[in-house]
Amino acid sequence: MSPRILTRESWGANESMGIKINSENSVEERAENHNHSNSSSVSEKEKKCLEMRRIAPEDFEVRMINTQDKLGNDLIWPRRYSKKVKVIVVHHTGEKETPKSNSLSGIEKVRAIYKGHTQTNGWGDIGYHYLVDKDGKIYEGRAGGDNVVGAHVYCANVGTISVAMIGNFQRRYPSEKQLSSLRWLLIELTNKYRIRPSGKTVFRGERISTIVTHRDLAATQCAGRNVQRLMNSIRTTVAQRDYEKSILPKDKASSRISRRGTGKKTYEREIPRRVRDKVQNYLKKYGKPKR
Ligand SMILES: [Zn+2]
Repeated sequence: MSPRILTRESWGANESMGIKINSENSVEERAENHNHSNSSSVSEKEKKCLEMRRIAPEDFEVRMINTQDKLGNDLIWPRRYSKKVKVIVVHHTGEKETPKSNSLSGIEKVRAIYKGHTQTNGWGDIGYHYLVDKDGKIYEGRAGGDNVVGAHVYCANVGTISVAMIGNFQRRYPSEKQLSSLRWLLIELTNKYRIRPSGKTVFRGERISTIVTHRDLAATQCAGRNVQRLMNSIRTTVAQRDYEKSILPKDKASSRISRRGTGKKTYEREIPRRVRDKVQNYLKKYGKPKR
């Protein structure tokens, strides 16, 4: 069964959040003005970015800018469109995982991230193009369709498409379902944008993989240590168009255990293979226990 992408409408994106209600300069204009401010206040990061723009101006080329949505409303953040998409960037959402945050459904998390990016950060929309939750559900992120520029990595928003795995993968691994949907989506996207999944490309003057993590492009932990470890097998199975092969290393198949009695407390733990095999044998024999 192939997953499908839940549209903004179906997860309940409040589109009015992205619309300008007064004549305040857009975030985009402010960012541009900032870029042109006097060079003595430019940070190392900005210097590096300016240098990349100088070396590879074609990787920053935008073919179209829409300042209004379909209904003619002025957008807070005008929609820009990359001339060419070369790279897909994998992120994690990286929030601290607490019993409370673990109790939220995927859709609730997506709505919260949308609100955070759109209103709290003032970006006018969600930064990521797609999000994948722990059950493997895929959500449409940024509005605007193919080639629309997101807001997910400094100095590399043009020319890239982003996929965010909901969760924090510094310590634990994503579920196989989540990884499998990520792979399905990466296969779709590499087809759509004619990207060679296991290949390299020259982007901003550097030779890099066509599917990378945020950390490969910037100083950040995103998409988490454990996703970083899986990137090679992700790229390989995407290249092979293999929808079935397990991505997690065998001993890393993790599961959410709920502690009986406390009712609330859940935590992530790796199950020893011996125990997992026993459980799987049981399930094979007797099926899932009824609740
Ligand atoms: Zn990131």
